[in-house]
Amino acid sequence: MVALGGNAILKSGEKGTAEKQFENVGRTCRRLVKLVVDGYGLIITHGNGPQVGDILLKNELSRNVLFPMPLDVCGAQSQGMIGYMLQQSMRNELKKVGKEMPVVSLVTQTLVDESDEAFRNPTKPIGSFYDSSEMEVLRKERGWQMVDDSGRGYRRVVSSPEPRDIVERKAIKRLFESGVLVIAAGGGGVPTVVGEDGSLRGVEAVIDKDLVAQMLASYVKADFLLMLTDVKKVFLNYGKPDQVAIDRMNIAEARRYLREGHFAPGSMRPKVKAAIRFVEAGGEKTVICSLEKAVEALEGSAGTTIQKEN
Ligand code: ADP
Ligand code: MG
Repeated sequence: MVALGGNAILKSGEKGTAEKQFENVGRTCRRLVKLVVDGYGLIITHGNGPQVGDILLKNELSRNVLFPMPLDVCGAQSQGMIGYMLQQSMRNELKKVGKEMPVVSLVTQTLVDESDEAFRNPTKPIGSFYDSSEMEVLRKERGWQMVDDSGRGYRRVVSSPEPRDIVERKAIKRLFESGVLVIAAGGGGVPTVVGEDGSLRGVEAVIDKDLVAQMLASYVKADFLLMLTDVKKVFLNYGKPDQVAIDRMNIAEARRYLREGHFAPGSMRPKVKAAIRFVEAGGEKTVICSLEKAVEALEGSAGTTIQKEN
């Protein structure tokens, strides 16, 4: 199970043109194809923070001309868009190495609890980064809740409830087991709740993709959960002069560092949580590393490896 960070699609500060995003996705897929060539079966999931924020902003800016779509619909749009880019690029890159296999992306819904306290306490950064004077204006004029995103600038935050279940999980498993390369649960899936009559309804939130990646990985009994992001390793005292990179940690250590507050909510915290849950549920290992090091990470020579025992 590979969870691609937002930078696999668009790096912060880059122009979000379609060409740029295709270029990045193409580069990412060339790396992932190496895993396929090495014989791994893959399920891919991806973030959508920058894209869903942009789609939402487009809707807000054009609301005098067109009906604005709510955040759940924006989330589905972002899954379709990124899924399409990955699906096409993956096919192209597989073809180049003489592998022709079916590739499909699936718009996925994720169940959440309507009473989740996250709805009262937004933590998930989406959209672009702003400096502090822009942030003041956006807070006042648009009523956005904004936070400093790990020292990289200010970003709008939305609610990010815990995933409870993946609605399409059986379909994803069947596709995977029949040899299809599946791209699913993008952006953590569209958050949905079950009504009293059992019907599904979307809610306005963005789920963290790493927690959903873990659910799916454990459900299909994946051996490895690979979270590819924009840092080489997980750090203690991240961003401070005394920061230290972690090569490996066991569950007890990971839990302790979480408690001590080393991992920022909305970014590294969900990754480490997902890593703990995956190995606790029987997964062999989780690696958190940079996008460039996917192959080395599986061999244990890059990134931060989280295993039950050291
Ligand atoms: P992704 O799109 O890959 O999920 P995130 O921004 O959610 O990316 O998470 C990666 C970011 O987490 C890093 O760029 C870094 O700024 C931040 N971060 C917060 N705490 C830590 C930490 N302890 N070690 C490493 N990175 C951290
Ligand atoms: Mg993230």
